[in-house]
Amino acid sequence: MTVNPEILQPGPKMEVDYKKCNTPMTCKKCLELCPQAVFAVDTIKYIKFTETDINEPDAYKIIPRHSDKCSGCMDCIKVCPQDAINIDFKGVNTA
Ligand code: SF4
Ligand code: SF4
Repeated sequence: MTVNPEILQPGPKMEVDYKKCNTPMTCKKCLELCPQAVFAVDTIKYIKFTETDINEPDAYKIIPRHSDKCSGCMDCIKVCPQDAINIDFKGVNTA
């Protein structure tokens, strides 16, 4: 069976540059602004019985977990102070 990757593409390809965004919990602008709730935060560093420090680099990561829900408004790109978000709509089936 031949699979058309464009049909399987559920949404745009989204990437966050973690060199530019390494303390997302001190910012959260994309999280708060996205009307489609595309973004989520993962805790990367766990220490038992200790709250993870929001100022520690790479302790948390912004994940575009629901990129299939992205409407393409581009507001997250405009609001990101680090220019860390990249969205590529190539190959998205908009029919
Ligand atoms: S482009 Fe708009 S809908 Fe898509 S992730 Fe960014 S803010 Fe959300
Ligand atoms: S707006 Fe940019 S810098 Fe702020 S949390 Fe989102 S990706 Fe990181």
